[in-house]
Amino acid sequence: MLCRREFRGAAALSEQGTAYGSAQATDLFFGQKGILRAMAGGAGDLKSIQETNRRLVLQMLVKQAPVSRATIARMVQLSPSTITNAVAELIADGVVREVGAGDSSGGRKPILLDVNWGARHVLAVSAEADRISAAWVNLQLQSDLRLDLALERREDCLAVAQEAVARLLRERSPRTAVGIGVAAPGLLDRGKGAIVNAASYGWRDIPLAAALEDTFGLPAWIENDVNAAALGEGCAGAGRGLGDFAYVLVDNAVGAGLVVDGRLALGAMGNAGEFGHMTIDWNGEECACGGRGCLERSVCWPVVRRRLEEEGLDAAREEPVPYDRRALLHRLSSSRRENRALRTTAAMLGAGIASLINLTDPRAVILEGVFSRAPAFIDWVQAEVARRMRGLQRDVPPILPGELGDAATLAGAAVMAFERSGLSARAVDGVRV
Ligand SMILES: [Zn+2]
Repeated sequence: MLCRREFRGAAALSEQGTAYGSAQATDLFFGQKGILRAMAGGAGDLKSIQETNRRLVLQMLVKQAPVSRATIARMVQLSPSTITNAVAELIADGVVREVGAGDSSGGRKPILLDVNWGARHVLAVSAEADRISAAWVNLQLQSDLRLDLALERREDCLAVAQEAVARLLRERSPRTAVGIGVAAPGLLDRGKGAIVNAASYGWRDIPLAAALEDTFGLPAWIENDVNAAALGEGCAGAGRGLGDFAYVLVDNAVGAGLVVDGRLALGAMGNAGEFGHMTIDWNGEECACGGRGCLERSVCWPVVRRRLEEEGLDAAREEPVPYDRRALLHRLSSSRRENRALRTTAAMLGAGIASLINLTDPRAVILEGVFSRAPAFIDWVQAEVARRMRGLQRDVPPILPGELGDAATLAGAAVMAFERSGLSARAVDGVRV
């Protein structure tokens, strides 16, 4: 699973017999950057080794606390004296504390160590069509400060993000901040920390994370918004403990984030998960991507709304403006009246999800977006998936509604920033972001 998955760094460490093996533990989701950073000091750099050991011990504590020094030494395969030194430094830094005695297995009772969960923070930033959201998030993925700043002009995206981060840092202590995680739509250049092209937002070549890094002197990383939401659900929501799952977002557009063996599957160019452009009608309606009959053209909200209106339902007049699309779809799908528009949509989405399951074999598919509060609709999708896979004689994974809703994106941006900065987060129940 994502946050409490097996401590692979420790295994790597014991196999390689070098402290640098632990660098692998610092980078659970993304390949090279963290590893290169941890190795940059070279084998003879004592400071770098000590820093790596501290991170390893802290990572272990975040996952397992409260534990004793002896338990940590056993689990990370470092000598007791190395652990004692690393713990002393972490206590001096205020990140770790002693919390009393544990059970004895014969001798003296061991002293247990816990994490000061509020001693490190990240700033999570999400760029959306009409707003920039930003939150100050601790190691338990909890936030006591979130800002949602309206984006009146889309071209102000960078300036508004900078304002949001500046306000968070003014109101909280920048001393405890370790990095900034940015979630953004479209094609990204992760190395450059930039949005390359988010066509439907009109954003081209916006160095969103890079500019935040330059302005505030904190490392910043960018990830696709749907991928970030998948990370958030995996760490603190419906994907907890799953390890392999697909996160599907159906809203104005359709996308997916794939988590395989506890990691985001990004693909060679970082563009994996374009589920909306899966062909479900080979000669169907033309799509902006250049293809035809894409799933997005059949199940995204504007198309569903048009379908509902063709059946005589003026969606916009059904609810107060701005009406709640989720509540509307919940009501329509659970009413006794047969709703052909929604049944058709569910069948089309079911066809797409059956293909996704055949391709990626997830433990579950998490469905978020306009249909996530419509259990009857999700049941129809599930039935269509089962029908399309009935000859395969296999268990069909469940389709689960997302648990975090819109907060998944910020939670995931925070998870990413902690992981990329060499820490990790441990969500507590009832995550607030
Ligand atoms: Zn397309």
